Amino acid sequence: MSRIHRLPTSVINKIAAGEVIERPASVVKELMENAVDSGATHIEVTLKDGGLELIRVADNGCGISADDMPLAIAAHATSKIADADDLFRVSTLGFRGEALASIAEVSQLKLRSRAQDSDVGNELIVNGGLIEPMAPCGCPIGTVVEVASLFFTTPVRQKFLRTMQTEMGHTVEAFTRIALAHTKIHMVLRHNDRVVHELPANESLSNRIGSFFGDDVRQALIAVSGDDNGVKLEGFVVDPIHSRSHNRLQYVFLNGRHIRERSLQHALSEAYRGLLLTGRYPIAFLGLSMPADAVDVNVHPAKQEVRFLDGGRIYSLVLGTIRNKFLTTDLTARTQIADMSANIYGTPQLATASSTAQADGLAPSITSHNRPSEFQQREISLTDDRRITDWTAGPSTLGRSSFGGADSFRPFPDLAAQRRVDSAQAIPQAAHDRNRALQVHNRYLITESPEGIIVIDQHALHERIIYEQLREKVLSGALESQKLLVPEPVPLSPTEFALIAEATETLGQIGITVEPFGGTTMLVSAYPAMLANHNPAEMLRSVVEHLNQRDSKVDRRDVLDELLHMISCKAAVKAGDRLTPAEVDALLEHRSMCQDAHHCPHGRPTSLVFSREELDRRFKRT
Ligand code: ADP
Ligand code: MG
Repeated sequence: MSRIHRLPTSVINKIAAGEVIERPASVVKELMENAVDSGATHIEVTLKDGGLELIRVADNGCGISADDMPLAIAAHATSKIADADDLFRVSTLGFRGEALASIAEVSQLKLRSRAQDSDVGNELIVNGGLIEPMAPCGCPIGTVVEVASLFFTTPVRQKFLRTMQTEMGHTVEAFTRIALAHTKIHMVLRHNDRVVHELPANESLSNRIGSFFGDDVRQALIAVSGDDNGVKLEGFVVDPIHSRSHNRLQYVFLNGRHIRERSLQHALSEAYRGLLLTGRYPIAFLGLSMPADAVDVNVHPAKQEVRFLDGGRIYSLVLGTIRNKFLTTDLTARTQIADMSANIYGTPQLATASSTAQADGLAPSITSHNRPSEFQQREISLTDDRRITDWTAGPSTLGRSSFGGADSFRPFPDLAAQRRVDSAQAIPQAAHDRNRALQVHNRYLITESPEGIIVIDQHALHERIIYEQLREKVLSGALESQKLLVPEPVPLSPTEFALIAEATETLGQIGITVEPFGGTTMLVSAYPAMLANHNPAEMLRSVVEHLNQRDSKVDRRDVLDELLHMISCKAAVKAGDRLTPAEVDALLEHRSMCQDAHHCPHGRPTSLVFSREELDRRFKRT
């Protein structure tokens, strides 16, 4: 081994960039956060080719003074916190002081900014970490950051980028999260010269939700609000007539920051218990506000996760508030929801030292140099969230009809993932008649063969199909695994940790990539594409449970097989799931291709045959 030596700054920055800047969407997120922190009332995001070509974020915020310009792009330089104690009272979206430095390290970055009290702006260009001399320039008050050639210094990262469509999907998602949390700010998203979203200032949250997810969802919003000892919950849940097969439409914001919080997702499903079919997830837009010192935001490089001082209380607040609301709401014939006015999330804004602080810290007012009227108003009609979710899911989970396609392993499970209950709930009877099978009790399929009547257990058959497809892919090493947008840390007990550590290689074979993440936490960073609608942490916990129960020292191949069984079971449609005619057809089609169509992987029968002779005999025809 060579001697220990200190890493050059550029390498340190590249390492930091690896954590913070994963794809164009991460750049958009960081730049928009800076714009929000600057007190801007207007933010424009412009993208070329999904951000792969160019990302430009312009704001009318406080701007950066000439002296501060070089610091803005320096690592670990921030105006938002001063000492370690401040880490426990972060009231801005940023605080790590490494976003601009990281981005500048891996791209061609142009920063133009003019501070509020300055007559002239300044321009600073950084080329893959190399800073060019700063030059004065004319520009309006505020900041414009342009990022081109992202990852040109880190070709490996570039390889991980997906198609323009996929990257655009992630970027729209990043924009959506910030736009929902900051409804006071006028925001525009342009892509290749087309306006994708134009959201006026001081918009009601419900309208913003409508622009992103369509009128159906907007009209089904149910306002919820509650508080407990300084913690406030405000926002909307959605009538259970609308649900999704994934939990990506569960937006939780904490003090204006979008977070993913497993315990709150859990609280939400608890609140909807009994109101949704298995495998369906509620839609919700929840804003929590609490004193900044009641939460630790410094636990995740992309600031996506937080740690609550009193998580139990917040869990109960969310669960209790929503449950009460449901108890007092007639869910079938609801009256109009009250429009909530802007910024329900109680966002603390702007702690930029050099800036003019806002009067109450909550409501930036529109400044004269940048009125919304200067920007074109255009009507946007995006009425279906599928557009966004499809983008987010990326091409690998689209197109449910191509089972067993050579390049994309996307068998049946996606049926469950992509079915929309809305459409499934109203299958006209005629549609069934065209089918070769009839679904009864939402659990059995009845069909005929020359021998007689066949009753199929939909779950058992689906499980079998997935199992066989999965096994074939695994054995031939062709299983498709997806890198998670946000790797999920799963805290485990020491024993559990050891079990998973031991099974790491086997898990890798089935497309689940785990790595130690400090202490006894495991990080799930990649996941089988076919399990996209199953929570990785939950899946890992099921694996742990499973490994825990079994005898140790069993052949690795057996472990693999057992895990395949377990995963197929989880991914299959459940008894109780209503299937569309197309899904019924697809199940039957695959039935004939199964090596053992008669038994599910657990050995239970997948179908029963009532022979014609038997029927004839019973009806006393013979
Ligand atoms: P952080 O946001 O964590 O402080 P960044 O690297 O994102 O770190 O930004 C560094 C500093 O540059 C910020 O603290 C802020 O002072 C300044 N800055 C960045 N973007 C803007 C902006 N759009 N408007 C005003 N100041 C900005
Ligand atoms: Mg920042």
